[in-house]
Amino acid sequence: MIKFLKQVSDYAKETVQSARYIGQGLSVTFDHMRRRPVTVQYPYEKLIPSERFRGRIHFEFDKCISCEVCVRVCPINLPVVDWEFDKASKKKKLKHYSIDFGVCIFCGNCVEYCPTNCLSMTEEYEMSTYDRHELNYDNVALGRLPYKVTDDPMVTPLRELAYLPKGVTEPHGLPADVRRAGQRPEEIAEQIEK
Ligand code: SF4
Ligand code: SF4
Repeated sequence: MIKFLKQVSDYAKETVQSARYIGQGLSVTFDHMRRRPVTVQYPYEKLIPSERFRGRIHFEFDKCISCEVCVRVCPINLPVVDWEFDKASKKKKLKHYSIDFGVCIFCGNCVEYCPTNCLSMTEEYEMSTYDRHELNYDNVALGRLPYKVTDDPMVTPLRELAYLPKGVTEPHGLPADVRRAGQRPEEIAEQIEK
């Protein structure tokens, strides 16, 4: 009889413990149901890079004076400045300019120190190729206007996660009332109904 009662007691304890574990698991599930989705449906949705994003470098050929400051300040002496001396004008004449983005670390030193501001960092980050040699951009490729997420009609630009409130650097620590990437489930449901 005592053995039977002990078995019943053990069974009851295990049942209560299991119910507690299920409750703990469901509390995590319910907590996530209240959170907003942060998934970006790339490539149909793209986050707008921050204003200080260091993407592909843009180069303005006509403004370059072939001073080679960009080469000297580059940690790996990467930019190739091909120039010749023009005897008539007694000035350097730029022939070709190139930067290999397969090697560049996007530190921005060349942009920072260029005396004529002919270099600038764009928000372009989609540069993947099948051949790494294609990442060696000449002055024509470097002079191409930068790609902008906000100008692409095929893409829905998302601003959240990129522009955080002043002083906030960690997007996941934002209060619940601050908007994040994506829409709430009820907003999506409303759109579907419409
Ligand atoms: S961004 Fe940095 S690594 Fe790239 S070319 Fe400029 S200085 Fe060199
Ligand atoms: S620092 Fe600027 S102006 Fe001088 S060579 Fe480089 S890109 Fe041209």
